[in-house]
Amino acid sequence: MPGKRATTCGMCGGALRDTVADSVERYQLGLGTVIIRHVPAQECQGCGEVWWPSSSIARMEDVLSGGKRSDAMAVIAVPAYDLAAM
Ligand SMILES: [Zn+2]
Repeated sequence: MPGKRATTCGMCGGALRDTVADSVERYQLGLGTVIIRHVPAQECQGCGEVWWPSSSIARMEDVLSGGKRSDAMAVIAVPAYDLAAM
């Protein structure tokens, strides 16, 4: 996904509209899986592809590189499954 702010979809050429992604999951060594909420994004009205403006990517990378667990608004437990045990 390109970080540049565009007005048309790079996949299908459809129009993009500004939106806010409820939550984005990223994996960061040390922090594990991180959920970042309310990320400004652009969604294609044609194919539904979500594009991240470079400003959103930069802010997410700030969180992932400098974020501390104590800065998180919440720490949640997630279910883990082991196929060998099922
Ligand atoms: Zn599209």
